[in-house]
Amino acid sequence: MALTPSYFDEGALIGVLTTQPLDRVLDYRAPEGGCHLGAFVEVPLGPRKVLGVVWGTGQGDYDISKVRSVIRVLDAAPMRDELRTFLEKAGAYTLTPLTAMLRLATRAPGLGDPPSMRKIYRLGDTTPDRMTDARTRVLDALRDMGGLSLTLRELAEAAGVTTSVVKGLAKLGAVREEDSPRDTAFPVLDPSYPSKDLTNDQATASTQLRAAIASRRYGTTLLKGVTGSGKTEVYLEAVAECLSQGRQALVLLPEIALTAEFLTRVEARFGAQPAEWHSGVTVTERRRVWKMVGQGNAQLVVGARSSLFLPFRDLGLIVVDEEHDTSYKQEDGVLYNARDMAVLRASICDAQVILASATPCLETWANAESGKYARLELTSRFGDAILPDMRAIDMRTEQLPGSSWISPTLQRAVQQRLDQKEQSLLFINRRGYAPVTICRACGYQIGCDHCDARMVEHRFLKRLVCHQCGETKPLPSVCPSCDAEDRLAAVGPGVERLAEEAQTLFPDARLAVLSSDMFGSARALKAEIETIASGGADLIIGTQLVAKGHNFPLLTLVGVIDADLGLQGSDLRAAERTFQLMRQVAGRAGRADKPGQALLQTFQPEHPVIRSILSGDEHSFWAAEADERRHAGVPPYGRLAGIILSSTDVQEVFDLGNALARNDGPLRHAGAQVFGPAPAPIARVRGRHRVRLLVKAPKGTPLQPALAAWVAPFRLKGELRMAIDIDPQSFY
Ligand code: ADP
Ligand code: ZN
Repeated sequence: MALTPSYFDEGALIGVLTTQPLDRVLDYRAPEGGCHLGAFVEVPLGPRKVLGVVWGTGQGDYDISKVRSVIRVLDAAPMRDELRTFLEKAGAYTLTPLTAMLRLATRAPGLGDPPSMRKIYRLGDTTPDRMTDARTRVLDALRDMGGLSLTLRELAEAAGVTTSVVKGLAKLGAVREEDSPRDTAFPVLDPSYPSKDLTNDQATASTQLRAAIASRRYGTTLLKGVTGSGKTEVYLEAVAECLSQGRQALVLLPEIALTAEFLTRVEARFGAQPAEWHSGVTVTERRRVWKMVGQGNAQLVVGARSSLFLPFRDLGLIVVDEEHDTSYKQEDGVLYNARDMAVLRASICDAQVILASATPCLETWANAESGKYARLELTSRFGDAILPDMRAIDMRTEQLPGSSWISPTLQRAVQQRLDQKEQSLLFINRRGYAPVTICRACGYQIGCDHCDARMVEHRFLKRLVCHQCGETKPLPSVCPSCDAEDRLAAVGPGVERLAEEAQTLFPDARLAVLSSDMFGSARALKAEIETIASGGADLIIGTQLVAKGHNFPLLTLVGVIDADLGLQGSDLRAAERTFQLMRQVAGRAGRADKPGQALLQTFQPEHPVIRSILSGDEHSFWAAEADERRHAGVPPYGRLAGIILSSTDVQEVFDLGNALARNDGPLRHAGAQVFGPAPAPIARVRGRHRVRLLVKAPKGTPLQPALAAWVAPFRLKGELRMAIDIDPQSFY
């Protein structure tokens, strides 16, 4: 194969990948002055101008007289070979068209714009004849800045004047107005700050990770340790090594809410804050991050899964914190798992991956067992903190009045902590007030108009909310089915209802409710968490949100309201999830110097999952779970792909599903089997009917080419949509 040149002279035939949904790389001519391989360009497409990347030599199979020229090369570092290869491989793995992969890698607005400038203001060299109070304040404010400049708004605010006062002074020359680039480099992080004194375990782990990073080769390490054992401390050492090598690092966090705490730790460790990339970042800041990452002017990025697609100049380390977290799987659009994609990208750019978790997912556990991943374990908690004592509360023997969920045993335990001025946490993994609203007269349950889902009452919002599509409506006073008045009743507990019960049982306790839908912003949540951590609450009522890595040093009791909740699903990972979640929640107790206790309310204390949670015998849990999966031939010991078909027309989806199932030749050839079609567990979402097929194959089957060949003959007409989910995590 001919080597692709790295530079194309003016007029050369080049292939440009655009972000438009076309199934090929398009031919163009290199613009005046030529262009580099990987250059970001603007090209004409029909009447429009679109963004593209120079992907290689043109194919030359398009009418040569019609080939148009690139309009211009954008002011951005060309996409490196490494990222182009990553997009190609990730696209092939997830069966995603390359154009859609490119969209993931260009998710910053205005990439094509010239370097954007903004006006800044500094002290001029004249003094106006007529001075006013306001004018004096502006000049004083600038003098206070000692030569530094401010934006118009900053200056007006600092001086307490309107912007027109500043503008007026600028006209007179008393204030100088200048243009300055908006996209500025991130502050330099200093990896040589002294680190904390590491414990033996931590030091061993840190030494190994540093050595791995110094090798400048690919490798993945599972960093396992209970919450509080210092995983973050250790991987910050790895980040330090990476920065010393002059390479960039990326830390993925599963929840934006966690970034604020992390930023503070980075600042303490490296003297400045890193770049942030997630949905809470403004569009201008996103563009700045995108550009600076490409120029190497952002050494460390902390972000959500999509930061994997940033154009790093030289990425040396990717940390996936809480690697088992289900939010790493993108569940719409391009269906990818950020953990797996991190490993893929690192293997292409000779980087190291650290997967940190107290409760790794079975896939990772199996890879560590087989030696594919290295494994480092932090066995004890930092300081004197010890793991909580875990016990079941057998709900079959507890006397509970109707519509209450806190058993007398749990109530006594909480009361005891209140008396000792210690914190307790009551955990329930259900948002809202009640999962079901039922009519006592006719039995009707209020459902969503667009989905096959019940609506969940949220008393905070005073509305019913569909957790599938987000639709809300006011809680009616009359039954929509039988018109009976005031007979609608809440059934089952949600976090809000539990808070109500707790307040009745413990009227003097200061309650804090933590649920992801109750905080307008990550900052507000951070503030609340800090308040709680410093003792601003006696009793915390929380959902899954509290299970994720927050520090509550005063907490000594965790009560799990319904430990059986996760065990009911038909989901292949139900046991694993329950195990992880329960252990994490329990890990919230006794973090500082006081021993903690975790009490799990359950109706099935002899269930194997509950028993392994209680005994703390992780290894036997993983081994048993691995056996079951091996036996069933499912991941990580077999391969799965989910096919989700949807349409507004129910007949149409089933017809397509049946046709796919009948014409399964390419799958059978490859040794794969197809199951279904069957209505999806949630058979209707946003008015679309959903049908699933499941493809199963032995490990090692080249599944993607077989899937591609299988679905290729089917044209999706009209409203029909098909999504292929490789390694599905959820089966709804
Ligand atoms: P994890 O990430 O495993 O939950 P962290 O790294 O957050 O653990 O550590 C838990 C707490 O203990 C943090 O407040 C951290 O600063 C502190 N800590 C951990 N290791 C040390 C150490 N060697 N010296 C001082 N403090 C430490
Ligand atoms: Zn809905």
